[in-house]
Formats: sequence, C-alpha cells, structure tokens
Amino acid sequence: MGRVIEYHDEIDSTNIRAKKWAKENGKEGNVVLAEYQSAGKGRLGREWLSPKGNGIWMSIILKPQLETNKIPQLTLVAGFCMCKAIRSITGLDAKIKWPNDIIVNNKKVCGVLTEMNINAQGIQNVVVGVGVNVNNERLDHRLPHATSLALESGKNYDREAIIEEFLTVFEEHYEKYKEKKDLSFFLEAYKAYCVNLNKEIKILKENKEYIAYAEEIGTDGTLIVKNLEGNRETIFTGEVSVRGLYGYV
Ligand code: ADP
Repeated sequence: MGRVIEYHDEIDSTNIRAKKWAKENGKEGNVVLAEYQSAGKGRLGREWLSPKGNGIWMSIILKPQLETNKIPQLTLVAGFCMCKAIRSITGLDAKIKWPNDIIVNNKKVCGVLTEMNINAQGIQNVVVGVGVNVNNERLDHRLPHATSLALESGKNYDREAIIEEFLTVFEEHYEKYKEKKDLSFFLEAYKAYCVNLNKEIKILKENKEYIAYAEEIGTDGTLIVKNLEGNRETIFTGEVSVRGLYGYV
C-alpha cells in the first residue's frame, strides 16, 4: 500500500481520480492524495469538506477477488485501521461510530467512503476513500459535530506519519480479510472501540427515522438491532445513518 502515490495540490475528489486511475492502469495499493478537494464526497451523495493543507484526503485502489456483497465490509476494515493509527500516533482516545466514522470526544474526525466498479465479470476495482481532519484550527460552521485531531489534543501532527501508520496497519488487515472473508479476526477489538453498540440509537433510513437498541455487530459488519416492538433487524452499511438519541453519538 502506498508504494506509488499520486499527489495533487488540488483535485475534485480523490475517489473520482482513483476510480479513473484504477480503470486505466492503477494497481492495487496505489494511493491518491490531495491537499484540497473541491468536491469531496461522503456517503449517499453527501458532501465532504476538505479544506486546504490541514487534512488527509486520500483514496486507495484495491483489486480484490471478493464477492460484491463483501465490499462494504472493507469500510469497517479501513475505519478500524484509521482508528488504530490515530490512537497510536496521537494517543487520543479515538472511537468508532458504526459503520464508518471515527470520533474523538464524540465528534467526527474521520469518515470512510468505499466505492466499487463492477461489470459482468465481477469486481473490477474498489476505491477506499479516507478523510481525516488533522491540523484544522476550526471546522466549517456547517459541521457542528466535527472536530480535528489538533483541536482535541492542542497539538499539530505530521500528516505523513498518520498516513504511513494507517497504510501499514491497513495492508496487514486487508490481506487477512481477503484470506478470512469476514471480520471475525478483529471484531472483538472493533467492538471495544465502537461507541454505538449496546445503546439505544436512532436509525435514519431514507425518509424514516426510528429508535432501536444496538445489540451486536455481525462478522459481516452488519448491525443487529432490536426495535421497540422487540423484533430483531439487521442493518446493512451503506443504506443508513445512525445517531445517538440526544446528539451525533
Ligand atoms: P454520516 O456521518 O451522516 O453517516 P457520511 O459518512 O456520509 O455521513 O459523511 C458525510 C457527512 O459528514 C456530511 O453530510 C457532513 O455532515 C459530514 N462532514 C463533511 N465534511 C466533514 C469533515 N471534514 N469532517 C467531519 N465531518 C464532515
């Protein structure tokens, strides 16, 4: 991972560029980095704000031989690895908000967006995009639930050190994931970092919003909840957002 890095001062979105590169001659492990994204993307068509110079805006090309239904699990692998990397470089008590956000003191410092390109032959490539607010001194007023590593610790960080640590940890977990094909090999550690497990949560799905108790995370990365009628439901990543009852977490 990261043996070849394409660096941009400014780009629309590192995911868009990585998808294009992957279709041309981009190889597994190639990385796109940018100082600024003018059209950074979140899930479900949302916007990811990527101010210049103080964040990590990064996309990684993957070419796994996996069934398409496995790909959303890579989001959890990448999120877990970024959580570990942030913890080891900064010492901050970073946690995971299932499925794909990393939070510090209940505010979001990092998001992960996984996209894939499939044709009749199967998966052509996968792009994992990771955005981290690192040295921001303030966050945009539109993001009341966001923070940066610098704001939470009072220190600035070398972004390269975080990227390097992340790519090392991610390579190791990705290789193991391809072998095992589920999350069981790190699920206990993931759950230990997960803030919305064993809690009542609000599930936002299309235009609906309802409350349920988050009971378990499956080895396939799904969230198993018990709704207010007492029925169990499996929530898949990608189609929902989750919130706390009284706020973001
Ligand atoms: P959600 O957190 O609602 O599940 P996503 O994972 O798709 O959503 O992330 C997109 C959302 O993240 C945006 O709608 C916005 O609220 C928030 N966001 C955008 N840019 C940033 C940023 N730099 N830092 C933290 N949060 C951001």
